[in-house]
Amino acid sequence: MRTKILAGNWKMNTSASEGLALFNEVRSGWNPDSDGILICIIAPPATHLSLVSAEAEQGIYTAGQNCSDQDNGAYTGEISAGMLKSVGADFVIIGHSERRSIFGEANDVLKLKVDAAIRNGLSPIYCCGEQRKEREEHRQEEVVRTQLKEELFHLSAEDFGKVVVAYEPVWAIGTGLTATPAQAQQMHSFIRTAIEENYDKEIAMDTSILYGGSCNPTNANDLFSNEDVDGGLIGGASLKSTDFLQIAKSLSNCVL
Ligand code: PEP
Repeated sequence: MRTKILAGNWKMNTSASEGLALFNEVRSGWNPDSDGILICIIAPPATHLSLVSAEAEQGIYTAGQNCSDQDNGAYTGEISAGMLKSVGADFVIIGHSERRSIFGEANDVLKLKVDAAIRNGLSPIYCCGEQRKEREEHRQEEVVRTQLKEELFHLSAEDFGKVVVAYEPVWAIGTGLTATPAQAQQMHSFIRTAIEENYDKEIAMDTSILYGGSCNPTNANDLFSNEDVDGGLIGGASLKSTDFLQIAKSLSNCVL
């Protein structure tokens, strides 16, 4: 069975002490799964990674929210994948829509960031998804296919095995609008098929594909009940431990 994942992206929120308190609330409410099928990944601001990674245990991992495409050098303000790894991260989010739209990260740089993550022993949580206008024009499959092809599918099969994919329709992120369970399942199945076409069936079946976009305790159950939805990448609702843990409960009810 492929790994089921609940990931929390705190974005640029929490002070170090608030972050540590939130992490410890999640940790104490998280029900470790002895089979390792269900894991939790928390992506705090990079400044808190060292602090919270020291507290991570029993199926709880940490992630960076971004990394440089370079390993070191004169890149003021940047943080490399190796640096994230050195303070305890095992994963890094790459291609989040806020990085794409606010910071102008395009397919060529995202491809290099994926490579930097792999080169430094981090698993990319690779985000893809269409904008609202693209969905209105029924172009969601074309958009996601291009993102996967230009940013991710250059990886060898072995390296692709380290990737977690997150389908995040941009129109649903932080907006309160959520993809319907049917829309999510359709796009997750589309992504799995694209992986199969580029690699093979076994790799496609083993890839965890998360849904992200206004997932909350009320809609989590319906989203996670879908065959190809292997968990969630949660933004807003990950900042409240009770909501995040409630979402975790839905995932665990659906998969265990
Ligand atoms: C995200 O930022 O990846 C996200 C899914 O945010 P939200 O849950 O707030 O829509």
